[in-house]
Amino acid sequence: MTGVYVALGANLDSPERQLDSACLALQQLAQQGSFRVSSYYRSVPMGDVPQPDYVNAVACFETELAPLELLDALQAIELQQGRQRLVRWGPRTLDLDLLLYGDEQIQTPRLTVPHYGIKSREFVLIPLEELNPSLVLPCGTGIATLITDAMRQSLQLLHPSG
Ligand code: ATP
Ligand code: CA
Ligand code: CA
Repeated sequence: MTGVYVALGANLDSPERQLDSACLALQQLAQQGSFRVSSYYRSVPMGDVPQPDYVNAVACFETELAPLELLDALQAIELQQGRQRLVRWGPRTLDLDLLLYGDEQIQTPRLTVPHYGIKSREFVLIPLEELNPSLVLPCGTGIATLITDAMRQSLQLLHPSG
């Protein structure tokens, strides 16, 4: 059993509902009783594609799935919720990124863990900190040291979890 963190993002077709149903699907991958999700946050899109703001959250849970099995499961959930891959960083109904898989560092053509954006993306760092303020990345960096005031100001809390 391994503890994992998954980033959720959506900006099409009722983004909050997309995150709600993604959470139900993710719970099917989780050891009973282990699933938690952060508050939902609104963020400004990355890149230059004009598109709606995103709703983001992070979930954590314990799973028996191996890393690539988990990636397959995440991509299946994205497809179930109508994900289409059109342009890089373009609008989507659901994006699920595997942020952390225990303490493992994984480097394969399909999967890089920790996710390469984990240290720089406020819509990932702030929900991670909410779930686990004392979280330490596999490289030894504490999560809280990566978060700046500007990052906190750029995210809008939509509704608290729980
Ligand atoms: P970004 O990766 O910058 O967040 P994105 O999420 O829009 O952008 P996608 O099109 O969803 O990018 O994913 C591209 C590929 O990234 C996937 O096909 C997958 O194989 C690969 N990938 C590598 N590492 C990961 C990871 N940790 N989690 C999810 N996908 C990953
Ligand atoms: Ca992503
Ligand atoms: Ca992705």
